[in-house]
Amino acid sequence: MKIEKTEVVIIGAGPSGSVAAGILRKQGRQVLILEREEFPRFSIGESLLPQSMQYIEEAGMLRDVVEAGFQYKNGASFVRGDKYTDFDFREKFSQGWGTTYQVQRAHFDHVLALAAERMGATLRFRHAVESVDVSGPTPELTARGPDGEPYRVQARFLLDASGFGRVLPRLLSLETPSNFPVRGALFTHVEDRVAPGTFDRSKIRITVHPQHVHVWYWTIPFSNGRCSLGVVARREYLEQFKGTETERLKAIVAEDPSLSGLLKDAVWDTPARAITGYAANVKSLWGNGFALLGNAGEFLDPVFSSGVTIAVKSASLAAKCIAREFAGEKVDWEADYAVPLKGGVDTFRTFVESWYQGGFQDVIFHPNASPEVRKMISAILAGYAWDKENPFVADSKRRLGVLEKLCAA
Ligand code: FAD
Repeated sequence: MKIEKTEVVIIGAGPSGSVAAGILRKQGRQVLILEREEFPRFSIGESLLPQSMQYIEEAGMLRDVVEAGFQYKNGASFVRGDKYTDFDFREKFSQGWGTTYQVQRAHFDHVLALAAERMGATLRFRHAVESVDVSGPTPELTARGPDGEPYRVQARFLLDASGFGRVLPRLLSLETPSNFPVRGALFTHVEDRVAPGTFDRSKIRITVHPQHVHVWYWTIPFSNGRCSLGVVARREYLEQFKGTETERLKAIVAEDPSLSGLLKDAVWDTPARAITGYAANVKSLWGNGFALLGNAGEFLDPVFSSGVTIAVKSASLAAKCIAREFAGEKVDWEADYAVPLKGGVDTFRTFVESWYQGGFQDVIFHPNASPEVRKMISAILAGYAWDKENPFVADSKRRLGVLEKLCAA
């Protein structure tokens, strides 16, 4: 079997893989990306957070993203019954980007992958990684391209950016169950036909179901008059609705008067899809000559649109560790990669758990919130979950717990 050699091999050309490739190319590294699909291909995860812009910029891909014509985003709005609140991410506690985009992922991921290629990475679509061996001094994998012939790749370092493909967690038995209940989502794209002025297209709109605190909908407007529409709920709730995925999604949207009113003229021209049990975790985010990026490691929950931000943050942290390792330094991957990455993920986890219990919903809909506290919350919703200057990051469980009690009173 043919053997190729490279410095860094990356499995998957989603946001984590392409951003890692960009940063490594800026370090002058030889990079090979193997992507199972042909791009553009559909992917879920369309609302970015401003914090992600820092890593897109670090990867040298900012201009590619800015010039792609995506929908400008400056915040998030929340609706529950007759209550409405919104957060402008430019008014936030942490320093850094306050705006970002809402993106069709087929296009966005393609833009990033082509940017990585422009920067000198070798990018191969329709090359699936089938097996890995990390027992030797350097990692090795076997892949198969469109000609059907398997080949081996030896690299100094292997990054698994395979997302829900979870290549290394499966092959190396690294998977551990998430401690979240099994939730699922039904989603589609519609031509929304929302009259101008009735809806702030520069914000994701999160609608809480009028009766069920654990059921919520997303509406993510795009720049072309269309929007992504989805609902997230526990599996048992979704299973009550029968029919095609589109019929089920329509029936659940009809349960919320404000959302169904907003979308009354929408054209449902794309069959809905379903995904269940996406929350995932691993025993370790790294091992002998490899690290897991983005969703190949842990995936929490979509409610705060944190997935792509965590993915590109992981890419940045891992690329820095690789730079040091290649420079001959001894890198402690637990202390320098896993622990810092998980710090922010755990901040999001605290807020996600509180969201589903209803406490964080009471906080954001509270009519008399202090402007300073709102700025701290806004920073977290904008993705600045690693900024320890923010008391709601440094001590998130306790701080949020106190705030929940105040807002419930
Ligand atoms: P992916 O984007 O999944 O990319 C992985 C790539 O690896 C894919 O292209 C795949 O084809 C490739 N691959 C897989 N297996 C192999 C193989 N064997 N060989 C080669 N290539 C392979 N995040 C947000 O930021 N905002 C949101 O609004 C949002 N909404 C979401 C809604 C739902 C319902 C869900 C489930 C998730 C949502 N997310 C959201 C999360 C987001 O989808 C992910 O966090 C993000 O895509 C992770 O990026 P990644 O680069 O790790 O992996």
